[in-house]
Amino acid sequence: MGPRLDVEKIGDKTVIHNYGHGGSGWSLSWGSADIAVGKAAATLDKKIAVIGCGVIGLTSALTAQRAGMDVTIYTKDLLPHTRSVRANGSWTPDSRVALTKPAGDAFPALWEQMARYSWKTYRDYLGLPGNPIDFRDNYILSDIPFDQKHFPPPQPGAGDYSTTGKPQHTSEFADYGDLIRDIIPNPEEIDPKDNPFPVAHARRANMMMFNFGAYGHLLLSEFYQAGGKIVIREFHNPGDLKSLPEDVIINCPGYAAHDWWQDKTLIPVRGQTTWLPPQADALYGVEYKGAALLSKTDGVMVQALDFSHTLGEMVGVGNSFEHADRSEAEQAIGIFEDLFARMGKEHV
Ligand SMILES: Cc1cc2nc3c(=O)[nH]c(=O)nc-3n(C[C@H](O)[C@H](O)[C@H](O)COP(=O)(O)OP(=O)(O)OC[C@H]3O[C@@H](n4cnc5c(N)ncnc54)[C@H](O)[C@@H]3O)c2cc1C
Repeated sequence: MGPRLDVEKIGDKTVIHNYGHGGSGWSLSWGSADIAVGKAAATLDKKIAVIGCGVIGLTSALTAQRAGMDVTIYTKDLLPHTRSVRANGSWTPDSRVALTKPAGDAFPALWEQMARYSWKTYRDYLGLPGNPIDFRDNYILSDIPFDQKHFPPPQPGAGDYSTTGKPQHTSEFADYGDLIRDIIPNPEEIDPKDNPFPVAHARRANMMMFNFGAYGHLLLSEFYQAGGKIVIREFHNPGDLKSLPEDVIINCPGYAAHDWWQDKTLIPVRGQTTWLPPQADALYGVEYKGAALLSKTDGVMVQALDFSHTLGEMVGVGNSFEHADRSEAEQAIGIFEDLFARMGKEHV
Protein backbone atom coordinates (compact mmCIF):
# COMPACT_ATOMS: atom_id res chain seq x y z
CA MET A 1 0.00 0.00 0.00
CA GLY A 2 2.90 2.36 0.62
CA PRO A 3 3.67 4.52 3.66
CA ARG A 4 0.78 5.85 5.72
CA LEU A 5 0.65 9.65 5.28
CA ASP A 6 -2.98 10.47 6.04
CA VAL A 7 -4.34 12.86 8.67
CA GLU A 8 -6.47 11.65 11.59
CA LYS A 9 -8.22 13.46 14.45
CA ILE A 10 -7.74 12.12 18.00
CA GLY A 11 -9.95 14.37 20.17
CA ASP A 12 -8.68 17.92 19.50
CA LYS A 13 -5.34 16.72 18.17
CA THR A 14 -4.44 16.60 14.49
CA VAL A 15 -2.29 13.52 13.87
CA ILE A 16 -0.33 13.29 10.63
CA HIS A 17 0.96 9.78 10.08
CA ASN A 18 4.38 9.09 8.59
CA TYR A 19 5.16 5.39 8.92
CA GLY A 20 5.29 2.10 7.04
CA HIS A 21 8.23 2.62 4.65
CA GLY A 22 9.19 -1.05 4.28
CA GLY A 23 12.83 -1.46 3.25
CA SER A 24 13.01 2.12 1.95
CA GLY A 25 12.77 4.37 5.01
CA TRP A 26 16.30 5.77 4.92
CA SER A 27 16.06 6.42 1.21
CA LEU A 28 12.63 8.10 1.19
CA SER A 29 12.87 9.83 4.58
CA TRP A 30 13.32 13.46 3.42
CA GLY A 31 10.65 13.25 0.75
CA SER A 32 8.21 11.60 3.11
CA ALA A 33 8.99 14.22 5.79
CA ASP A 34 8.34 17.00 3.27
CA ILE A 35 4.84 15.64 2.61
CA ALA A 36 4.02 15.16 6.32
CA VAL A 37 5.31 18.62 7.27
CA GLY A 38 3.32 20.18 4.41
CA LYS A 39 0.18 18.74 6.03
CA ALA A 40 1.27 20.04 9.46
CA ALA A 41 1.91 23.51 7.97
CA ALA A 42 -1.65 23.57 6.61
CA THR A 43 -2.92 23.75 10.23
CA LEU A 44 -0.98 27.07 10.68
CA ASP A 45 0.06 25.84 14.13
CA LYS A 46 3.77 26.46 14.79
CA LYS A 47 4.17 24.14 17.78
CA ILE A 48 4.60 20.56 16.61
CA ALA A 49 5.14 17.22 18.36
CA VAL A 50 6.90 14.38 16.55
CA ILE A 51 6.48 10.84 17.86
CA GLY A 52 9.57 8.73 17.27
CA CYS A 53 13.27 9.37 16.77
CA GLY A 54 14.14 6.86 14.06
CA VAL A 55 15.21 8.20 10.68
CA ILE A 56 11.61 9.12 9.78
CA GLY A 57 10.95 11.00 13.05
CA LEU A 58 14.26 12.87 12.94
CA THR A 59 13.94 13.97 9.31
CA SER A 60 10.32 15.02 9.98
CA ALA A 61 11.45 17.04 13.00
CA LEU A 62 14.27 18.74 11.07
CA THR A 63 12.04 19.50 8.10
CA ALA A 64 9.47 21.07 10.45
CA GLN A 65 12.20 23.20 12.07
CA ARG A 66 13.37 24.35 8.64
CA ALA A 67 9.78 25.45 7.98
CA GLY A 68 9.97 27.65 11.09
CA MET A 69 8.21 25.33 13.53
CA ASP A 70 9.00 24.77 17.20
CA VAL A 71 9.45 20.99 17.55
CA THR A 72 9.49 18.53 20.45
CA ILE A 73 10.23 14.86 19.78
CA TYR A 74 8.54 12.35 22.11
CA THR A 75 10.12 8.93 21.85
CA LYS A 76 10.83 5.68 23.60
CA ASP A 77 14.37 5.47 22.12
CA LEU A 78 16.88 7.77 20.45
CA LEU A 79 18.15 6.98 16.94
CA PRO A 80 21.12 4.75 17.92
CA HIS A 81 18.69 2.35 19.65
CA THR A 82 15.91 2.30 17.07
CA ARG A 83 15.12 -0.29 14.40
CA SER A 84 16.43 2.23 11.86
CA VAL A 85 20.05 1.44 12.65
CA ARG A 86 19.52 -2.29 12.09
CA ALA A 87 19.17 -1.56 8.36
CA ASN A 88 21.58 -2.11 5.50
CA GLY A 89 21.73 1.63 4.86
CA SER A 90 21.97 2.10 1.13
CA TRP A 91 19.83 3.85 -1.48
CA THR A 92 16.97 1.35 -1.92
CA PRO A 93 13.93 3.64 -2.39
CA ASP A 94 11.51 0.99 -3.68
CA SER A 95 12.58 -1.96 -1.56
CA ARG A 96 9.32 -3.52 -0.35
CA VAL A 97 7.77 -0.07 -0.02
CA ALA A 98 4.47 -1.14 -1.62
CA LEU A 99 2.55 -3.86 -3.38
CA THR A 100 1.78 -2.69 -6.91
CA LYS A 101 -1.97 -3.38 -6.98
CA PRO A 102 -3.08 -2.28 -3.47
CA ALA A 103 -0.87 0.85 -3.73
CA GLY A 104 -3.12 2.03 -6.57
CA ASP A 105 -2.55 4.24 -9.60
CA ALA A 106 -1.72 7.46 -7.73
CA PHE A 107 1.07 6.06 -5.56
CA PRO A 108 3.89 5.83 -8.18
CA ALA A 109 3.80 9.62 -8.68
CA LEU A 110 3.88 10.20 -4.90
CA TRP A 111 6.77 7.75 -4.60
CA GLU A 112 8.66 9.54 -7.36
CA GLN A 113 8.13 12.87 -5.58
CA MET A 114 9.52 11.41 -2.33
CA ALA A 115 12.49 9.72 -4.03
CA ARG A 116 13.53 12.80 -6.03
CA TYR A 117 13.18 15.12 -3.02
CA SER A 118 15.23 12.77 -0.82
CA TRP A 119 17.97 12.30 -3.40
CA LYS A 120 18.29 16.08 -3.75
CA THR A 121 18.39 16.61 0.02
CA TYR A 122 21.01 13.90 0.52
CA ARG A 123 23.31 15.79 -1.84
CA ASP A 124 23.53 18.53 0.86
CA TYR A 125 25.16 15.96 3.17
CA LEU A 126 27.91 14.85 0.76
CA GLY A 127 31.55 15.79 1.31
CA LEU A 128 31.15 16.59 5.01
CA PRO A 129 33.57 15.57 7.79
CA GLY A 130 33.00 11.92 8.76
CA ASN A 131 31.24 11.22 5.42
CA PRO A 132 27.69 10.95 6.81
CA ILE A 133 26.46 10.26 3.26
CA ASP A 134 28.78 8.64 0.78
CA PHE A 135 28.96 6.72 -2.47
CA ARG A 136 30.40 3.21 -2.86
CA ASP A 137 31.07 0.95 -5.81
CA ASN A 138 28.76 -2.02 -5.32
CA TYR A 139 29.67 -5.20 -7.23
CA ILE A 140 26.88 -7.61 -8.11
CA LEU A 141 28.31 -11.05 -8.95
CA SER A 142 26.74 -14.08 -10.58
CA ASP A 143 27.92 -17.50 -11.71
CA ILE A 144 25.32 -17.50 -14.50
CA PRO A 145 24.49 -14.69 -16.97
CA PHE A 146 22.26 -12.05 -15.36
CA ASP A 147 19.59 -12.46 -18.05
CA GLN A 148 19.21 -16.14 -17.10
CA LYS A 149 18.27 -15.32 -13.47
CA HIS A 150 14.53 -15.69 -12.95
CA PHE A 151 12.28 -16.42 -9.99
CA PRO A 152 10.00 -19.45 -10.24
CA PRO A 153 6.43 -18.43 -11.22
CA PRO A 154 3.71 -18.21 -8.53
CA GLN A 155 2.39 -21.57 -7.26
CA PRO A 156 -0.95 -22.38 -8.91
CA GLY A 157 -3.80 -21.62 -6.49
CA ALA A 158 -1.55 -19.74 -4.02
CA GLY A 159 -3.62 -16.55 -4.44
CA ASP A 160 -2.25 -13.07 -3.86
CA TYR A 161 -2.68 -10.12 -1.47
CA SER A 162 -6.25 -9.48 -2.61
CA THR A 163 -7.36 -13.03 -1.75
CA THR A 164 -5.13 -13.90 1.26
CA GLY A 165 -4.33 -10.52 2.89
CA LYS A 166 -0.61 -11.18 2.38
CA PRO A 167 1.62 -11.10 -0.70
CA GLN A 168 2.36 -14.59 -2.01
CA HIS A 169 4.98 -13.91 -4.71
CA THR A 170 7.84 -11.49 -5.29
CA SER A 171 6.16 -10.16 -8.46
CA GLU A 172 3.46 -8.50 -6.29
CA PHE A 173 6.01 -5.99 -4.95
CA ALA A 174 6.29 -2.66 -6.74
CA ASP A 175 9.35 -1.84 -8.82
CA TYR A 176 9.50 1.88 -9.51
CA GLY A 177 13.20 2.15 -10.45
CA ASP A 178 12.48 3.33 -14.00
CA LEU A 179 10.75 6.49 -12.70
CA ILE A 180 14.06 7.94 -11.48
CA ARG A 181 16.47 6.29 -13.92
CA ASP A 182 17.56 9.76 -15.11
CA ILE A 183 19.10 10.74 -11.74
CA ILE A 184 20.52 7.46 -10.36
CA PRO A 185 23.89 6.07 -11.59
CA ASN A 186 23.15 3.02 -13.76
CA PRO A 187 24.88 -0.32 -13.15
CA GLU A 188 27.44 -1.30 -15.80
CA GLU A 189 28.56 -4.76 -16.91
CA ILE A 190 32.23 -5.39 -16.12
CA ASP A 191 34.17 -6.72 -19.07
CA PRO A 192 35.60 -10.19 -18.18
CA LYS A 193 39.17 -8.92 -18.67
CA ASP A 194 38.55 -6.18 -16.04
CA ASN A 195 36.64 -8.39 -13.60
CA PRO A 196 38.69 -8.65 -10.39
CA PHE A 197 36.45 -11.38 -8.93
CA PRO A 198 36.73 -15.17 -9.51
CA VAL A 199 33.10 -15.19 -10.69
CA ALA A 200 32.03 -15.28 -14.36
CA HIS A 201 29.62 -12.30 -14.39
CA ALA A 202 29.95 -8.97 -12.60
CA ARG A 203 28.18 -5.63 -12.59
CA ARG A 204 29.25 -2.44 -10.88
CA ALA A 205 26.89 0.25 -9.59
CA ASN A 206 27.88 3.48 -7.90
CA MET A 207 25.54 3.50 -4.91
CA MET A 208 24.57 6.14 -2.36
CA MET A 209 24.88 4.87 1.21
CA PHE A 210 24.33 6.13 4.73
CA ASN A 211 26.97 5.92 7.48
CA PHE A 212 24.63 5.61 10.45
CA GLY A 213 27.09 6.80 13.14
CA ALA A 214 28.20 10.04 11.48
CA TYR A 215 24.85 10.80 9.83
CA GLY A 216 22.74 10.06 12.91
CA HIS A 217 25.02 12.17 15.09
CA LEU A 218 24.79 15.04 12.60
CA LEU A 219 20.97 14.89 12.44
CA LEU A 220 20.62 14.88 16.23
CA SER A 221 23.12 17.78 16.55
CA GLU A 222 21.27 19.82 13.91
CA PHE A 223 18.00 19.21 15.73
CA TYR A 224 19.38 20.40 19.10
CA GLN A 225 21.20 23.38 17.51
CA ALA A 226 17.90 24.57 16.03
CA GLY A 227 16.35 24.56 19.52
CA GLY A 228 14.63 21.16 19.34
CA LYS A 229 13.66 19.31 22.52
CA ILE A 230 13.49 15.56 23.10
CA VAL A 231 11.28 13.95 25.75
CA ILE A 232 11.74 10.25 26.49
CA ARG A 233 8.25 8.82 26.75
CA GLU A 234 6.40 5.67 25.73
CA PHE A 235 2.81 5.80 24.44
CA HIS A 236 0.48 2.83 24.88
CA ASN A 237 -2.59 3.81 22.88
CA PRO A 238 -3.66 6.68 20.59
CA GLY A 239 -5.61 8.32 23.46
CA ASP A 240 -2.28 9.01 25.25
CA LEU A 241 -1.61 11.75 22.67
CA LYS A 242 -4.41 13.86 24.22
CA SER A 243 -2.09 14.67 27.14
CA LEU A 244 0.54 16.38 24.92
CA PRO A 245 0.74 20.20 25.02
CA GLU A 246 1.03 20.34 21.19
CA ASP A 247 -2.12 20.10 19.07
CA VAL A 248 -0.39 19.00 15.86
CA ILE A 249 1.46 15.69 15.93
CA ILE A 250 3.53 13.93 13.26
CA ASN A 251 3.38 10.24 14.11
CA CYS A 252 6.56 8.31 13.16
CA PRO A 253 6.63 5.09 15.24
CA GLY A 254 7.71 2.78 12.38
CA TYR A 255 6.61 -0.84 12.66
CA ALA A 256 5.60 -0.21 16.33
CA ALA A 257 2.35 1.28 14.92
CA HIS A 258 1.25 -2.34 14.42
CA ASP A 259 0.81 -2.63 18.20
CA TRP A 260 0.43 0.80 19.78
CA TRP A 261 -1.75 2.22 17.00
CA GLN A 262 -3.33 -1.19 16.32
CA ASP A 263 -2.55 -0.80 12.61
CA LYS A 264 -2.85 -4.40 11.45
CA THR A 265 -2.39 -3.43 7.79
CA LEU A 266 1.37 -3.28 8.49
CA ILE A 267 2.96 -6.52 7.30
CA PRO A 268 6.14 -7.48 9.20
CA VAL A 269 9.21 -8.33 7.13
CA ARG A 270 12.08 -9.90 9.00
CA GLY A 271 15.58 -8.77 8.01
CA GLN A 272 18.91 -9.07 9.78
CA THR A 273 22.24 -7.32 9.46
CA THR A 274 25.55 -8.45 10.97
CA TRP A 275 28.41 -6.05 11.68
CA LEU A 276 32.14 -6.78 11.42
CA PRO A 277 34.92 -4.32 12.40
CA PRO A 278 35.39 -1.36 10.01
CA GLN A 279 37.93 -1.77 7.19
CA ALA A 280 38.93 1.68 5.99
CA ASP A 281 41.15 0.28 3.19
CA ALA A 282 38.33 -1.68 1.49
CA LEU A 283 35.39 0.67 0.96
CA TYR A 284 33.07 -1.12 -1.45
CA GLY A 285 30.05 -3.44 -1.52
CA VAL A 286 29.48 -6.94 -2.96
CA GLU A 287 26.33 -9.00 -3.59
CA TYR A 288 26.82 -12.70 -4.28
CA LYS A 289 24.92 -15.95 -3.76
CA GLY A 290 22.01 -14.25 -2.01
CA ALA A 291 24.08 -12.23 0.48
CA ALA A 292 25.26 -8.61 0.60
CA LEU A 293 28.34 -7.01 2.13
CA LEU A 294 28.85 -3.26 2.44
CA SER A 295 31.95 -1.66 3.93
CA LYS A 296 31.01 1.51 5.84
CA THR A 297 32.90 3.88 8.12
CA ASP A 298 31.20 2.33 11.18
CA GLY A 299 31.63 -1.35 10.25
CA VAL A 300 31.35 -3.94 7.51
CA MET A 301 27.66 -4.78 7.16
CA VAL A 302 26.74 -8.31 6.05
CA GLN A 303 23.13 -9.22 5.22
CA ALA A 304 21.40 -12.39 4.07
CA LEU A 305 19.18 -11.46 1.13
CA ASP A 306 17.87 -14.65 -0.48
CA PHE A 307 20.08 -17.73 -0.11
CA SER A 308 17.49 -19.86 -1.94
CA HIS A 309 17.41 -17.56 -5.03
CA THR A 310 13.69 -18.35 -5.28
CA LEU A 311 11.95 -15.87 -2.96
CA GLY A 312 13.17 -12.40 -3.96
CA GLU A 313 11.19 -9.76 -2.02
CA MET A 314 9.22 -12.51 -0.22
CA VAL A 315 12.12 -13.28 2.15
CA GLY A 316 10.97 -12.70 5.75
CA VAL A 317 7.46 -11.53 4.77
CA GLY A 318 5.00 -12.13 7.62
CA ASN A 319 7.84 -12.87 10.09
CA SER A 320 8.00 -10.46 13.07
CA PHE A 321 10.70 -12.40 14.98
CA GLU A 322 13.36 -9.83 15.98
CA HIS A 323 16.09 -11.90 17.63
CA ALA A 324 19.43 -12.50 15.94
CA ASP A 325 19.84 -15.73 13.98
CA ARG A 326 23.51 -16.59 14.32
CA SER A 327 23.50 -19.43 11.78
CA GLU A 328 22.06 -17.09 9.11
CA ALA A 329 24.79 -14.54 9.89
CA GLU A 330 27.51 -17.21 9.69
CA GLN A 331 26.17 -18.49 6.38
CA ALA A 332 26.25 -14.97 4.89
CA ILE A 333 29.76 -14.28 6.20
CA GLY A 334 30.85 -17.73 4.90
CA ILE A 335 29.84 -16.77 1.34
CA PHE A 336 32.26 -13.83 1.37
CA GLU A 337 34.97 -15.73 3.25
CA ASP A 338 34.90 -18.32 0.47
CA LEU A 339 34.81 -15.65 -2.28
CA PHE A 340 37.81 -13.75 -0.89
CA ALA A 341 39.76 -16.99 -0.28
CA ARG A 342 39.22 -17.91 -3.96
CA MET A 343 40.31 -14.41 -5.00
CA GLY A 344 43.54 -14.86 -3.11
CA LYS A 345 44.28 -18.16 -4.90
CA GLU A 346 43.07 -17.27 -8.39
CA HIS A 347 44.57 -13.77 -8.54
CA VAL A 348 48.21 -14.31 -7.52
C1 LIG B 1 17.28 -5.57 7.53
C2 LIG B 1 16.80 -4.23 7.05
C3 LIG B 1 17.52 -3.56 6.07
C4 LIG B 1 17.08 -2.32 5.61
N1 LIG B 1 17.84 -1.67 4.69
C5 LIG B 1 17.45 -0.45 4.23
C6 LIG B 1 18.26 0.23 3.27
O1 LIG B 1 19.32 -0.24 2.85
N2 LIG B 1 17.82 1.43 2.80
C7 LIG B 1 16.63 2.00 3.24
O2 LIG B 1 16.28 3.07 2.77
N3 LIG B 1 15.88 1.37 4.19
C8 LIG B 1 16.26 0.17 4.68
N4 LIG B 1 15.49 -0.49 5.62
C9 LIG B 1 14.24 0.14 6.07
C10 LIG B 1 14.46 1.22 7.11
O3 LIG B 1 15.37 0.76 8.08
C11 LIG B 1 13.12 1.58 7.76
O4 LIG B 1 12.17 1.88 6.75
C12 LIG B 1 13.29 2.81 8.65
O5 LIG B 1 14.36 2.62 9.53
C13 LIG B 1 12.02 3.07 9.43
O6 LIG B 1 12.30 4.15 10.27
P1 LIG B 1 11.24 4.70 11.30
O7 LIG B 1 11.80 5.95 11.86
O8 LIG B 1 9.89 4.75 10.65
O9 LIG B 1 11.10 3.56 12.40
P2 LIG B 1 11.99 3.15 13.66
O10 LIG B 1 13.43 3.17 13.34
O11 LIG B 1 11.41 1.87 14.16
O12 LIG B 1 11.74 4.30 14.72
C14 LIG B 1 10.54 4.38 15.43
C15 LIG B 1 10.67 5.38 16.54
O13 LIG B 1 9.43 5.46 17.23
C16 LIG B 1 9.64 5.23 18.62
N5 LIG B 1 8.45 4.55 19.14
C17 LIG B 1 7.90 3.41 18.67
N6 LIG B 1 6.84 3.08 19.43
C18 LIG B 1 6.72 4.03 20.38
C19 LIG B 1 5.81 4.24 21.46
N7 LIG B 1 4.84 3.39 21.70
N8 LIG B 1 6.00 5.32 22.25
C20 LIG B 1 7.01 6.19 22.00
N9 LIG B 1 7.90 6.04 21.00
C21 LIG B 1 7.75 4.98 20.20
C22 LIG B 1 10.88 4.38 18.69
O14 LIG B 1 11.52 4.48 19.97
C23 LIG B 1 11.72 4.99 17.58
O15 LIG B 1 12.37 6.15 18.07
C24 LIG B 1 15.89 -1.73 6.12
C25 LIG B 1 15.17 -2.41 7.11
C26 LIG B 1 15.62 -3.63 7.57
C27 LIG B 1 14.84 -4.32 8.65
